[in-house]
Amino acid sequence: MSKLTNPTEIARETFKQLGTRRIAPTPENYQRIYHEVAGIAEEANSAADKELIAALQNLGRTHPQSNTAFKSIIQTLEQRDWKAFTLHFEALIAQKRTEQTGWADLVRDLIKQWDLKQTGLTSPRKKEALERVLINFGKNPEELFSKLRGLVKAWNDGLSGPSDIEVEGSSLEDPSTKPQAEDRVGAPLGPLVSAEEIPNMLSDLLSKALLNGVMPRIAHFPELASRANDLASQARDANDLDLLNQFAKDIRQFWIELELRADADQAVLDGLMRLLRLLIDNITELLLDDQWLRGQLNIVQEIIGSPLTPTVITEAEQRIKEVVFKQGTLKHSLNEAKASLKNLVTMFISRMGEMSESTGEYHVKIEKYVDKISQTEDLPTINTVLQDLIADTKSMHLDMVRSHEDLINARRQAEAAEQKMHELELELGQVSELIYQDHLTGTLNRRGLEETFTREFARAKRGQTPVSIAMLDIDHFKKINDTFGHDVGDQALIHLASVVKEILRPMDAVARYGGEEFVIILPDTLVSDGVSIMTRLQRDLTKRYFLHENEKLLITFSAGVAQRENEETAEAMIARADSALYRAKQAGRNRVLMAESKL
Ligand code: GH3
Ligand code: MG
Ligand code: MG
Repeated sequence: MSKLTNPTEIARETFKQLGTRRIAPTPENYQRIYHEVAGIAEEANSAADKELIAALQNLGRTHPQSNTAFKSIIQTLEQRDWKAFTLHFEALIAQKRTEQTGWADLVRDLIKQWDLKQTGLTSPRKKEALERVLINFGKNPEELFSKLRGLVKAWNDGLSGPSDIEVEGSSLEDPSTKPQAEDRVGAPLGPLVSAEEIPNMLSDLLSKALLNGVMPRIAHFPELASRANDLASQARDANDLDLLNQFAKDIRQFWIELELRADADQAVLDGLMRLLRLLIDNITELLLDDQWLRGQLNIVQEIIGSPLTPTVITEAEQRIKEVVFKQGTLKHSLNEAKASLKNLVTMFISRMGEMSESTGEYHVKIEKYVDKISQTEDLPTINTVLQDLIADTKSMHLDMVRSHEDLINARRQAEAAEQKMHELELELGQVSELIYQDHLTGTLNRRGLEETFTREFARAKRGQTPVSIAMLDIDHFKKINDTFGHDVGDQALIHLASVVKEILRPMDAVARYGGEEFVIILPDTLVSDGVSIMTRLQRDLTKRYFLHENEKLLITFSAGVAQRENEETAEAMIARADSALYRAKQAGRNRVLMAESKL
């Protein structure tokens, strides 16, 4: 149909169309048909369509997530399918609405995952990943939404593997947003890292080793610790060759300094240990009578004799604390008992004073009465003097009885206090689980001997030094007992022990092995020197004789000396020394023989 231009003709044609097409002659229908006839609508429509399609295409570009939806709308528009057009539009609006409410859920999930502790995912690591997503996608809310959701899901999946992150956040190309090697510890399948990730992973591990492994151990060198901290950052940031070279140079220098400091540390520790050993060895010798302190020193000796570990030190500390606590209470009771004994002695002396005072007075009075009696012949006067005398005697008697009773009481209390002191002192000795001493001679007992063997064997092994022992038995001891009694025998044992301790070096140890048998441990001593030492002891014993009731009693002993061979046991050594001792006895006593070697 050719286009009509005359309005009258157009109007006529419009009415004709309304009639022939049986369209209701409403104003809207009239207008629509009029435009159709005049050809105005088509042009207007196509211009409007073009604008609309361009706008929708633009929206699709700026909202790539909804691009498909916009494309569908454009299609329905072109097809003039208004129903489908409406449906697509509604779907798009609904999707947008969901996205908006999705933010709330996403933020909630993000907070939850942020607070959760996932293995290998530290807070700084999470922060770094989040910042990266915000920087890269912050300008596009839809993409941001999607990447954030991917990130939250990756955190949620924790160790379940890298693939999850890649599905959700495939465009997160920065490796640092991917889980690092340590995050995947325990991942059941697949290679841990790809080849490109290795440098990153190594620098991360190095940085962590510096921060968590090195720094805490050099906290007492603040300057070095701060260098370790700087190097850790340097390791993390070394992402090009220059930085890496610089880092390698710096860390080499750091190791050298660290090594020097560690050597100095060790030297100080060794020096302190030597000093402590010297101190303990010497103090112990001065403390023969102080069992409880000796016990504590024995613990310290034990510790420094074995390799130092924190466990050994803590255990020893615990033991010393317990002993100190118990000893503290006992010492307190002991002091109280001593104080009460002192009070009783003071009372006794003052009573004695009072007594002598009253008897002194009595003497003076008697003298006066004697004078009076000798000067008078008068019976009543004598009678009076006698009565005075009787009265005085009575009062003195009462004084005496009172003092006597007081004294008996005092003595009883003193005895009780003394008994208590004795018990407490005994308990004090026992409390220290370290009673290594023989109570009669003050030498080591069997237990002390065992400890000393252990310590000296360890020391000899460390220092590659020889160690010898001597087994000593008093000759004809039974005879001393039989002749002078058991107590004198005891005194003889005490005497021998004190001479032995006086003559030997501080490092030597003497232990009572049995009745009148002693074992002497001689560190750093060859067997031949051991024999000389024991022979000298025999000579000294003849000079420092044992006195009983001003009578010199000569004590002699026989001994066998053995040097430790091939790390043999203490028992084996004692057995060899004992058979040498036996030979010495057989050979006539009062002699020292060398044990036979098993080599
Ligand atoms: P030998 O030269 O062969 O060693 O002769 P011995 O008399 O010393 O013989 P033996 O070793 O058999 O005797 C040791 C004696 O020492 C026996 C025992 O009565 C005595 N004895 C053991 N312990 C003690 C003690 O603590 N005090 C006293 N006084 N005597 C003791
Ligand atoms: Mg014997
Ligand atoms: Mg004997």
